Amino acid sequence: MDFTLDEDQREIRDWVRTFVRREITPLEPEVLRRERNGRPGLTRDELRELQLKAKEAGFFGVLTPQEYGGMGLGAVMTALLESELGRSFVPFRFGGYADNILFHGNEEQKERYLLPTISGERISCFAITEPGAGSDAKAIRTSARQDGSDWIINGEKTFITQGNDADFTMVFAVTDKEKGADGGVTCFLVDRDMGWKSEPIDTMGEWGPAALVFEDVRVPKESVLGEVGKGFQLAMQWIGQGRYLLPARAIGSCERLVEMAIEQARTRVTFGELLAERQAIQWMIADSAVEIEALRWLVLHAAWQVDQGMDSRQAQSIAKLYGGVKANEIVDRVLQIHGGMGYTRELPIERWYRELRLLRIYEGTDEIQRRTIARNLLKGHAKIGGSLV
Ligand SMILES: Cc1cc2nc3c(=O)[nH]c(=O)nc-3n(C[C@H](O)[C@H](O)[C@H](O)COP(=O)(O)OP(=O)(O)OC[C@H]3O[C@@H](n4cnc5c(N)ncnc54)[C@H](O)[C@@H]3O)c2cc1C
Repeated sequence: MDFTLDEDQREIRDWVRTFVRREITPLEPEVLRRERNGRPGLTRDELRELQLKAKEAGFFGVLTPQEYGGMGLGAVMTALLESELGRSFVPFRFGGYADNILFHGNEEQKERYLLPTISGERISCFAITEPGAGSDAKAIRTSARQDGSDWIINGEKTFITQGNDADFTMVFAVTDKEKGADGGVTCFLVDRDMGWKSEPIDTMGEWGPAALVFEDVRVPKESVLGEVGKGFQLAMQWIGQGRYLLPARAIGSCERLVEMAIEQARTRVTFGELLAERQAIQWMIADSAVEIEALRWLVLHAAWQVDQGMDSRQAQSIAKLYGGVKANEIVDRVLQIHGGMGYTRELPIERWYRELRLLRIYEGTDEIQRRTIARNLLKGHAKIGGSLV
């Protein structure tokens, strides 16, 4: 078994590592200052500028197929890059990305939604969650009824990432109540100027999601993405596209946090001795290092399965669950090692603490991942031992 990166992988990873160190990390004090004043850490223009800088070096559309101008790097490489980006809390991501389900659009939809999303001219949002339906996504009630050749959408979505900035949404609505998720949910591509409204939701994180309201929003039949009644499968495809990428980013954050803890332990003296000499502190550092390594291999293994075209759902759920739980334990330990200073807003630890908490909630909570993992085992869809059986 060969765990080494090949030359290309190392070169790409190192380029991103340097980019983060030179271009992203220096922005941190300003990003923190702005966020403390209730402003976004990066403006849309600043993000675009950074993305263009990366694009000049060829970094654009990491996962986007080459025929659409992307790099088409694959899952393992993307996971490696994502963990490098996670080393900073600056909300940077490479440009050239589009939601995987937009590739299911017809030619006209690709022109109108997919290509401008890849180029960064348009912003999308994915809207399935409702006040009464989160983990139980099959319980959505937003409806779309036919009126002539149009559809009329009514309902409310909640916690929609980028919902305040989006130019259009991929919204999921019930088109056949009897069939429900099994053939009765449809995905619509709906421009903001077709009439939906958004309302920011204040959260403990720095980038707030939005509630979306649809009141008799009339859309033409051309707005249907994929087939009428096949929306739930598209939603699951969207959610499943990159579950491994969320814990991948957390690897970088945890590495950086533990480096801070090591530095603190090496310099802070209590009762005449460095914290580094205390077993209680050493164990916190050791446990964190072990867990980061375990997480790295869970993430890379899940990504490897994606690249092999295998059914990676079990591996992705395992990586997402472990990443969410362990990243939260690690940031808590690092905060503890910093004592009172860890609790202040002078250091970014509390910011990471708030951000990493989300990992246990969105794109499937811890409990839902456990439910999936256990069900797969109990029903015989997966075996203990993973892909090495
Ligand atoms: C910042 C943020 C961004 C988000 N972005 C998006 C987005 O872009 N698009 C989108 O559609 N949604 C988005 N979401 C919604 C997110 O996916 C849901 O919040 C998540 O799926 C949980 O649903 P819920 O909040 O309704 O909790 P609930 O489903 O009500 O769950 C509440 C609690 O009960 C537990 N629970 C539920 N069912 C079970 C069960 N069967 N067994 C045991 N425990 C259970 C849950 O794990 C959780 O702990 C976002 C959420 C947040 C906070």
